[in-house]
Amino acid sequence: MSGNASAPGDRFQDQRERKYGYDFLDEVLVRCPRCDGRAVVMPHPGAPDDGDAAVSGAMNFRWRLRCRECGLFKDETVASAALGGPVDPGFRRPLWLQESCCGQLLWAYNVRHLDLLEAYVAAKLRERGELLPWAPTSLVERLPTWLKAAKNRTEVLRTIRRLRSTVPAEDR
Ligand SMILES: [Zn+2]
Repeated sequence: MSGNASAPGDRFQDQRERKYGYDFLDEVLVRCPRCDGRAVVMPHPGAPDDGDAAVSGAMNFRWRLRCRECGLFKDETVASAALGGPVDPGFRRPLWLQESCCGQLLWAYNVRHLDLLEAYVAAKLRERGELLPWAPTSLVERLPTWLKAAKNRTEVLRTIRRLRSTVPAEDR
C-alpha cells in the first residue's frame, strides 16, 4: 500500500498511537457476562493516576464493569491489556459494537470510536491520502485495508450506522 518507509515523524506517530488507544479506553461497550445486555468497562476510578505508566504502554490497570440492565458490578485487575481485537482490555468480553462487514469484522470500543471510523472512511475516499486534521495518524495507518477500500465504502458506512443505532442517543 503506502510503501513510504522514509516518512518523517515516526516518533510523533508513535506517541499519538498510544494516546489514541488510551482515549477510547475510557469507556468500552461490551456484552454483559451475566445478561448479555450492553455493559460498560472503564478504568477503575481508584486506579492510581500514573500517567507515566499509561504513556509507557504498561497498561497494568484495574478495570470496572457495570451493567445498567442487570446491575452487575465487577472489578478486575489485569497484568496486560488486550488491545487491538474485538474484546475489552480488562475483562476480555466481546465488544458490543461489532458486526460482520465485507467478510471481515468491524468493531469499535464506543460510539466516539465509530464516529471517527465513519469520518475517516467517508473523508478518506474523497481525496486519497488526505488525513483528517484531528485523526491520529497511527489510527489511519492501522486501519485494515478492507476498511479503506473504496469498493467497501457503502457497506462499511451502513454497518457503522447500524451499530450506532444499537446505542440509544442518551447513552452516547
Ligand atoms: Zn447485565
